[in-house]
Amino acid sequence: MFVRREGGTLICQACRHFCRLEKEGDSGRCGVRQRRGERVNLEASIRVSEVEPVERRGFFHVVPAARVWSYWTGKSENGDADAAPPPDVIGVAAADPEAAWAFECHADLARQARERGLAVLWNSRGLWSSPVLGLVPSLVTAVRLILDGENRERWGKILYEGAWLRSRGVWVEVALIPPEGLTPRDLRHFLKTFTETLTADTPVHVVRSFSPRTPAATLIQIAEALSGVLPYVYVDHLPGNPRENTFCPHCEAPLVYRFGWVVLENRVKDGRCPECHKPVPGRWTLS
Ligand code: SF4
Repeated sequence: MFVRREGGTLICQACRHFCRLEKEGDSGRCGVRQRRGERVNLEASIRVSEVEPVERRGFFHVVPAARVWSYWTGKSENGDADAAPPPDVIGVAAADPEAAWAFECHADLARQARERGLAVLWNSRGLWSSPVLGLVPSLVTAVRLILDGENRERWGKILYEGAWLRSRGVWVEVALIPPEGLTPRDLRHFLKTFTETLTADTPVHVVRSFSPRTPAATLIQIAEALSGVLPYVYVDHLPGNPRENTFCPHCEAPLVYRFGWVVLENRVKDGRCPECHKPVPGRWTLS
C-alpha cells in the first residue's frame, strides 16, 4: 500500500518524507517500514496501552472525563501489548504523534473500534500524504494537530488540512507547542492563517514543552494573545493555571472546570451552555 516504483527503487508514499527504499532491508525514517523484496512492509504493532482520561490525550471538547484506551505503536516484537480495548471505554486514542507512519495498524484498529461504536482519536504532525489524508475522515472521530518548531514551515498547510477534516465531520483540536523565539509577529501570522483556514471555534492548546522547559509566563502570554481572537484557548501541562477551564464565549458562564487532566465539573448540557443555551462546539456525546 502507498508505494510507487521508480526503476528498481520503491518510494513509500504513506507520509511526506517519501522515503526511497533502494535495496532489500532499507528502512524508512519512521523505522517501522522496511523493504522486503518488491514490497514495503509495515512492521508495526501495538506496543503499549493503558486506560486514561480523554483529557490526557489533549482533547478538551470530546466527552469530558471519559476514559479512553490509549495505545502506542512500534516495531513489532515478541511481547506486544494487548490489542483489544477493554469494555468500559468510550474510544481508542493513538498516542503516537504521527498516525501516518503506522497507518495500516491505526486504520485496522479504528475499523474494529467503530464497529463497536467507539470513538477514534488520532494525532498528526501533518505528515500524512494526500492518499492517507483522504482515508482519515472515514476512520476517525477527532484529530489533534500538533504544531511545533519542527513543522513550523508547514503550519499553514496543516491548518488548511484541519479545515478540510472538519468540513468532513472530523472534530479537530490544535496543540501548539511554541518553538523558542516565537515573536508577537509570528503569533499574529499564526492567528491570521488560523482564522483564514479553520473556524475560530476550533480549540487551541498551548502546550508546555519539557525540553527545553517552556516558562509558564510564556505559555500564559501566548494564550492571552490568542484568546483575544479565538474563544477556546487552553494552556496544557501547567496544572492549576487559569486557562484550563472552558467558558462560554457568548455569556461567559463557566462550562467545564478542570485541574490538569481531571474534570472537576462539566456543566455542558446536550452540547449547549446551561445559561444562554448557545451550542458549544465539540463532541459532547457519541450518540
Ligand atoms: S511512512 Fe515511513 S517509510 Fe513511509 S515515507 Fe514516511 S517515514 Fe518514510
